[in-house]
Amino acid sequence: MRHFAVVGSGPAGFYTAEALEKAYGGQARIDILDRYPVPYGLIRFGVAPDHQSLKAVSKRYDKVADSAGVDFIGNVAVGRDVSIAELLELYDAVILATGAPHDRKLGIPGENLPGVIGSAEFVGWYNGHPDFADLDPALGGTHAAVIGNGNVALDCARILSKTRHEFEGSDIVGHALDALDGSAIRTVTILGRRGPHQIAMTPKELGELGHLEAAVPVIEAGDFPPVESDEPLEPGLRKSVGLLRGFADLQADKPKRIVFDFFAKPVAIEGNGKAERIVVEKTVLDASGSARGTGETYEVPASLIVSAIGYSTSPIPDVPFEGGKFVNQGGHIADRLYAVGWARRGPSGTIGTNRPDGYEVADQVAAAMPSGSVGNRPGAAGLKALLEQRGIMPTDYDDWRKIEETETGRARPGSPREKFVRVEEWLRTVGR
Ligand SMILES: Cc1cc2nc3c(=O)[nH]c(=O)nc-3n(C[C@H](O)[C@H](O)[C@H](O)COP(=O)(O)OP(=O)(O)OC[C@H]3O[C@@H](n4cnc5c(N)ncnc54)[C@H](O)[C@@H]3O)c2cc1C
Repeated sequence: MRHFAVVGSGPAGFYTAEALEKAYGGQARIDILDRYPVPYGLIRFGVAPDHQSLKAVSKRYDKVADSAGVDFIGNVAVGRDVSIAELLELYDAVILATGAPHDRKLGIPGENLPGVIGSAEFVGWYNGHPDFADLDPALGGTHAAVIGNGNVALDCARILSKTRHEFEGSDIVGHALDALDGSAIRTVTILGRRGPHQIAMTPKELGELGHLEAAVPVIEAGDFPPVESDEPLEPGLRKSVGLLRGFADLQADKPKRIVFDFFAKPVAIEGNGKAERIVVEKTVLDASGSARGTGETYEVPASLIVSAIGYSTSPIPDVPFEGGKFVNQGGHIADRLYAVGWARRGPSGTIGTNRPDGYEVADQVAAAMPSGSVGNRPGAAGLKALLEQRGIMPTDYDDWRKIEETETGRARPGSPREKFVRVEEWLRTVGR
């Protein structure tokens, strides 16, 4: 019997467990560890609460957790409660699927002023992440800005612009819904260093902006290259650019505006003790397609500034780390130690991109220790004994189901659940 530890219960962790279960049949036990008693990683804490159909992918993960060879061990932070060296003693292989939860820094003066937050913080706040329950984003001014030209920037701008009514059926947490409902923000500017042809926004997410109840997207027709130049674009991008071109024809006849500001590089954030404006330098594209500053600057008013420019992984002691992720070659870090998902590749791709990652690494593990080969490590029994010595009480999937049931039972009208936002609440629910 082989014992494998998958660290992290986001998409990458679940796909890896699914692949290992398939590769080994009944010949392996796979434990999915997570720092929290609730599984799913960014499916719970990242994917937008008004995108419930995407969050439904978790049903597939539940099936994996129900498989005979797979267990969930929650409330255990690797690197804090148990070390990598200890896990490698206890398990035949350890696969890190810890994601990339930290915002990349802007690296400009003023980014530490009150009012400036990272998208991981903002997104975590409205999705009920315990680390950000007390964020209290600055919603009292009329202008906000989101820095970045990917789907996370779109999520942030959309959530800032929706009405209470538009959150019906979402699982946005109550504290965020109430705060957003009372928000004074009327203009959200999305800043991108390059132009419409360089966006990383997908058509579905972009298209939603054209159908908001109280907000309209606004874009300068002059920011577009000639329409013929859309032709060679990859089809998804061409569709996105077509949507943006359509936005340029819309009437700004709703109370809120989402303004696309292209060729705009933030160079400083200024204000009297708090963010009040972003100083932006106009850019042009050079021959390689990079943005080059022109020296011409202007100001964008904003008392809330959300930077959505990418994420990095949390380092874990004794695991080589560079450039915001674990150093790995095709997922292999060191003997019996692997990485998958965002911890392996960095923060790019969709939920589904993590599936081939997980399967590829499971293949490597199976090649190194074929199904039927014998291991003599203790796996979960050894881990639980160690945790007990340390006074740490792990949770299992039944505990998670109890938490989910309790959250569903206290749902607000129009919401599938009211999530707990404190670790203590999760633990209390399951008698810890
Ligand atoms: C704001 C946002 C919105 C997104 N929206 C979409 C979308 O609409 N559609 C789409 O396809 N993709 C979307 N994505 C991308 C998608 O969420 C990622 O591709 C995916 O979650 C990455 O999976 P992962 O398993 O690598 O990491 P994660 O989902 O981050 O999972 C990592 C897990 O590891 C756990 N962990 C971390 N450190 C430790 C530790 N030391 N010990 C134990 N456990 C630990 C965490 O608690 C977490 O559960 C979005 C991403 C973001 C940030």
